[in-house]
Amino acid sequence: MIDLHTHSNHSDGSLSPRELIEEAVRAGVEVLSITDHDSFAGYDRAVPIARAAGVELLCGIELSTKLDGRSVHLLGYFPVAPGDGFRAWVSELQITRRERNVRLAARLHELGFDIRVEEAEALGRGMTGRPHFAKVMLDKGYVKNLRHAFDEYLDESAKAYVHRLEPSLEEGVKRIREAGGIASVAHPSRLHGRLEDVLERMRPLGLEALEAYHSDHEPGQTSQYLQLAQRYGMKVTGGSDYHGAMKPEVRLGTGHNNNLAIPRAVADALLAHSTRT
Ligand SMILES: [Zn+2]
Ligand SMILES: [Zn+2]
Repeated sequence: MIDLHTHSNHSDGSLSPRELIEEAVRAGVEVLSITDHDSFAGYDRAVPIARAAGVELLCGIELSTKLDGRSVHLLGYFPVAPGDGFRAWVSELQITRRERNVRLAARLHELGFDIRVEEAEALGRGMTGRPHFAKVMLDKGYVKNLRHAFDEYLDESAKAYVHRLEPSLEEGVKRIREAGGIASVAHPSRLHGRLEDVLERMRPLGLEALEAYHSDHEPGQTSQYLQLAQRYGMKVTGGSDYHGAMKPEVRLGTGHNNNLAIPRAVADALLAHSTRT
């Protein structure tokens, strides 16, 4: 069994890297990728633990990018771990997230709310964003519910919204490619536009794969994505998008009600990539 899309508590999952490796052993996952959002911190900690446990760990990441103003998640896989240049760029992404949160807290303060960035960060850790601010507002009785927090304050057109600089999908693809990685469109079922259009625009820039297997996908969607990958001569990737207790219905390796069975060949094709010259 393999699972190439999982999150540790260094982004928005609930398990520590050690617990995630232990869960992989329990579930019988032989090849695992930790794809935390904009961070290698969980992967880095998991490397020696996975080695000792006999789990093959593929270096991965999930980047938040923008295409035509809409959010697109992009997976990057690195059969050979990426160098300092790419890692420095990833650190910058974390700094822009932190900066945005500081500005958001300041804006809420201006509007008369007693909310500190640390309170949101206590909930969101390395992935702190607007939902965590909404939760703090709710807990302090400033809003009726989370929807109210977004409608009135946090949505893009609302009073407290502050912009966050996210890389374009194009930049994400190019950076991953330059660092020797394989870029893959995550959960294509959540894309806003047509997948074909995205593939046609991004393939020439180095997009090499799409995530055909994912817990969100219906069987019909998976086969459609497999066909598309074949038509465009692309690789496929797959994973459960495991978040531990944050999304308890999704299981490591097997997805939602066992709806996931990712062939071992998917991982082998990515790992073989390291021999590319
Ligand atoms: Zn995602
Ligand atoms: Zn994910």
